[in-house]
Parts: sequence; C-alpha cells; structure tokens
Amino acid sequence: MPPLTPAPGLAASCRTVCYDCHIIHPETTMTIAIYPGTFDPITNGHTDLIQRAARIFDRVIVAIAANPKKAPLFTLAERIALVEGALGTLPNVEVCGFDSLLADFAAAHRATVILRGLRAVSDFEYEFQLAGMNRRLAPNVETMFLTPAETYTFLSSSLVKEVAELGGDVSAFVADKVMAALHNRLR
Ligand code: ADP
Repeated sequence: MPPLTPAPGLAASCRTVCYDCHIIHPETTMTIAIYPGTFDPITNGHTDLIQRAARIFDRVIVAIAANPKKAPLFTLAERIALVEGALGTLPNVEVCGFDSLLADFAAAHRATVILRGLRAVSDFEYEFQLAGMNRRLAPNVETMFLTPAETYTFLSSSLVKEVAELGGDVSAFVADKVMAALHNRLR
C-alpha cells in the first residue's frame, strides 16, 4: 500500500495520523470511525460522545474541520490542541485537522463510519440531510449517531462561548484547559 501523505497545508496537524495509517492495510478488519466537527471549542458533550465511541469502534479519528466559513473563535491548531488536552489518553482515539471533503477524508483513512451526535430533535433535520449527502458521496460509509449523557443534551460550543463571553461559569461544560483558553480569548 503506498504511504498516505498529509493533505496540503495540514501537514503538521495530520502527520501523526497519517504515519499511523501506514500500518493499515486494505484487508484490515478494524472498524474505523470518523467523528467530524468544528469543535470550537470541544465541550464535555463532545468528550462524552468520543468516550462512548472509543468503546464501540476499534479506532476513532476526531476530525476537526478547518471550517473558515464559520469564523471559528479558535484556529485549527488551537482547536486540535484543545481536543488533545481535553481527551487525555484514549489509546484508540486520534485527533486530526482537515479541510477537504469529508467523504475523501474518510476514504483516505479507510473509515467505514461517520459518527455524529444527536442532542435533540432540532439536530435531526440537518444531520439527516448531511448523512444523505455523505451517503451519496461515499456509499460505503455509514453515518451513525450517538446521544450524550442527559446532562449534556443542552450543551453546544456556541452556547458555551456565549456564556463565557458574558462572564458566566462554564466549568461544568468544558475541560479546565478549554475554560482557560476561553477566558484568554474573550477577556
Ligand atoms: P459542526 O459544525 O459539524 O456541527 P460541532 O463541533 O458543533 O461541529 O458538532 C460536531 C458533532 O458533535 C455534531 O454531530 C453535533 O451534533 C455533535 N455535538 C455537539 N455538541 C454535542 C453534545 N453536547 N452532545 C452530543 N453531541 C454533540
């Protein structure tokens, strides 16, 4: 199998994952799931989902979308570092940035599952549309949904940013390092 190379412009963030990919051969029976999102920043709801996924799949790749159109508060490199810091050590979880089509990213990493979170009915319509489009673009990749613990069903990155910006306490919603980063960025 030819070595996989990091996507252009994302060499630093993707190098670890792509070097790991060298040992994955086409005949592998591992189930690799990709959990894509903006993660601006990672919340305890995201972490809850990743921990659940790590118990189900052989390998989980947290794929952080550059997503410049969303004008993220944190740069891609910052979001990667915050996710890595918040997750600690989960041996079968990797973190990678990407700015390509998710279907292409999944194929390059031999992922067969795209993982998304459903918090409430309000998430459903967009997620259903996204899953349909991804099925069209990558017919062999299944979108699967997980729900977080009840305590995180109301949690979103944008709400956390809004509360932090107004001086509210977000310590129950994000990791300490994320809280510190929010304070630094928003003060
Ligand atoms: P995106 O811009 O792709 O929506 P997000 O980082 O906001 O990126 O979300 C990534 C995924 O994580 C989405 O499927 C979203 O529904 C899910 N998600 C976000 N917050 C939570 C939460 N508190 N609990 C469970 N899933 C969540």
